Amino acid sequence: MHDEPTGVRAALQSPERKRCPACQQVKHRADFSTTPAGLCSRCQDCKRATSRLASRRRQAAVRLLIAFHPEEYHALLRLVRGGSWSCLIERGAGDAA
Ligand SMILES: [Zn+2]
Repeated sequence: MHDEPTGVRAALQSPERKRCPACQQVKHRADFSTTPAGLCSRCQDCKRATSRLASRRRQAAVRLLIAFHPEEYHALLRLVRGGSWSCLIERGAGDAA
């Protein structure tokens, strides 16, 4: 019996293709972003999905923060609309966001 590579195994061994550890799919190298260190480990689809999820979590956290601290939120909104918020950033209030 010979241990001949199957189509999937051959695809995994191809230098033109790479397996994404997040979605387990073997994709073309063009489907992975490049960094100065080389190809990203995750494919672009998985990176986008991760980024989208992180963005939704941040939005949910901001909504909760506003719901729990409405007076502070509206006071800060008034400051920003008045254009005098640069003094807050200079004092380090911008670091809290
Ligand atoms: Zn993926």
